[in-house]
Amino acid sequence: MSQLETQCLHAGYEQAEATTKSHAAPLYRTTSYRFDSAEHANNLFTLKELGNIYTRLMNPTTDILEQRVAALDGGAAALALASGTSAAFYSIINLASKGDEIVSANNLYGGTYTQFNDILPSMGITVKMVDPLNPENFAAAITDKTKALFCEVVGNPLLDLVDLQAIGDIAHAHGLPLIVDATFSTPALCRPLEHGADIVIHSLTKWLGGHGTVIGGIVVDSGKFDWTTGKHPLLSDPEPSYWNTSFANDLGDLAPLAYILRMRLIPLRNLGACISPDNSWQAIQGIETLPLRMERHSENGLAVAKHLQNHAKVEWVRHPALEGDSSYELAQKYMPKGSGGMVVFGVKGGAEAGRTFIEKLQIFSHLANVGDARSLAIHPASTTHSQLSEEQQLSARITPDLVRLSVGIEHIDDILTDIDQALAAV
Ligand SMILES: *Cc1c(COP(=O)(O)O)cnc(C)c1O
Repeated sequence: MSQLETQCLHAGYEQAEATTKSHAAPLYRTTSYRFDSAEHANNLFTLKELGNIYTRLMNPTTDILEQRVAALDGGAAALALASGTSAAFYSIINLASKGDEIVSANNLYGGTYTQFNDILPSMGITVKMVDPLNPENFAAAITDKTKALFCEVVGNPLLDLVDLQAIGDIAHAHGLPLIVDATFSTPALCRPLEHGADIVIHSLTKWLGGHGTVIGGIVVDSGKFDWTTGKHPLLSDPEPSYWNTSFANDLGDLAPLAYILRMRLIPLRNLGACISPDNSWQAIQGIETLPLRMERHSENGLAVAKHLQNHAKVEWVRHPALEGDSSYELAQKYMPKGSGGMVVFGVKGGAEAGRTFIEKLQIFSHLANVGDARSLAIHPASTTHSQLSEEQQLSARITPDLVRLSVGIEHIDDILTDIDQALAAV
């Protein structure tokens, strides 16, 4: 079962559940699990046996989701969490603590940017932000305190792709893992573990869930990074809150699970950003159709970009698969099957025109999300980035005319008609 389309439907639930033979992945709405005996309970708590204890730590529905996404990304293991935001947070605090540094791309999703720029520093973790379009900027910012490099496959807000392999090579030359947020690409379009990444995170809220119905996040580990070198004491030192286990050194056959197992047993167990089993189940439903949806999102996204490119009321447009786009070469290399449904463009007439355009749209919904099956639109300068000064907006390249579209899977004729009538009103 090696092909993605098949994995999306079967991975993590090949055999029907033994008691009921439920054909569809079952939803286990329970907080806790009965022990067979005092010995069984003790074995579970001391890791002599792996099994269910409490749903904050593990749940059989969530386990199906974790196995499925790990398979899609070609990873060794995964951990699902309450949101993509908590996935980013746990991916960092599972390998870095007070006094440590992270080197990150500066074109991050807004919530992650604030987390890295304000919250991690308040915990003593310094995040150095670099322009990721030149991979050498990562190398220049690495010190002996650096614990990991971080970037997104497709950046915000301008949809710039990064050269994953080049950044991964820099990370590995310094004994560091590369963590990649692949929310905008999904495993259907790009599998970063095949291009130099060691750890991948996704917001399940976006295209993986796919229907705008569920918040969730997930961290996938390749299982190949060497945590035993001493560069990552959180993983290699004895863990005082867990039987003095060294996750990197003491797991034997389970060594490839070290990073994910530590994340489950230390941050998730004690900080508690667990996903609800209901949300895991919803995400599983969405993933079944992921490859079909991403194909259509990509087709429609490119068609919208080409249409806007020739429109008299449009100043500029970007989509990574648009010939001549500055990310075109990288998109051909890392997302050859399509570059997704995100399109950004500048409407002639600036902020006022941008707002009018958004208000006139009828099929596109005006809201702060991406990756719904339905088309979405927003004017970042007056909404998501309105708290920034004009100067800050420009340095983040949020120009007043910028409109962001998350193109859905409706019929392309209806999408283009809607865009045209809204532009006509500008
Ligand atoms: C939405 C998003 C997140 C945050 O995910 P939530 O599930 O909303 O917490 C992180 N990274 C990217 C790229 C996103 O689009």
